[in-house]
Amino acid sequence: MARLTVITGPSGVGKGTLVGQLLARHPQIWLSVSATTRAPRAGEVDGESYFFLSRERFEQQVAAGGFLEWADFAGNLYGTPRQPVEAHLAEGRPVLLEIELEGARQVRRSFPAGFQLLLKPPSFEELERRIRSRGTDSNAAIQRRLERAREELAAEQEFDAALVNGDLGEALLQLEQLMQLA
Ligand code: 5GP
Repeated sequence: MARLTVITGPSGVGKGTLVGQLLARHPQIWLSVSATTRAPRAGEVDGESYFFLSRERFEQQVAAGGFLEWADFAGNLYGTPRQPVEAHLAEGRPVLLEIELEGARQVRRSFPAGFQLLLKPPSFEELERRIRSRGTDSNAAIQRRLERAREELAAEQEFDAALVNGDLGEALLQLEQLMQLA
């Protein structure tokens, strides 16, 4: 499999669940933990789900070159800490990044040999239903996420492959094939 895999897909497409199942079956894969200025959602643990940073701390890290990539997504900043990614790649571990479109574009420039996958919903209506049913985001945030979702889905041609996340088991098998794990 590619040493570095990027999974991108609209908010609500179910990246987290799919990636969780992938890791359970392939514990050799190391999933990067991102930093964000977004507030934690219920159940999210600092250092596991994300490193939750103030905007000031985040900007200090940007200035220090601490991120492999970073982007503004729906009003919050998100970034991939550089050092652990480089360390795991140096050890020969397969590394997985679960990031949005702008970040994927930046990583494509620095790791052109990486494998980049777009995860798609069965339909836009289904995506909207999933985002709304999460019930954690404000209406304005939901609108911003839906706008970004349209942009991400329109960028499909930039990716090495696209995968529809309808049935989870099916999507997992296809993901394993695309990552050459099966
Ligand atoms: P959420 O707020 O729903 O956890 O994430 C919002 C979006 O930010 C998702 O599309 C997620 O993939 C993306 N994201 C998470 N971490 C990073 C990161 O480190 N860099 C970038 N560019 N996007 C990220």
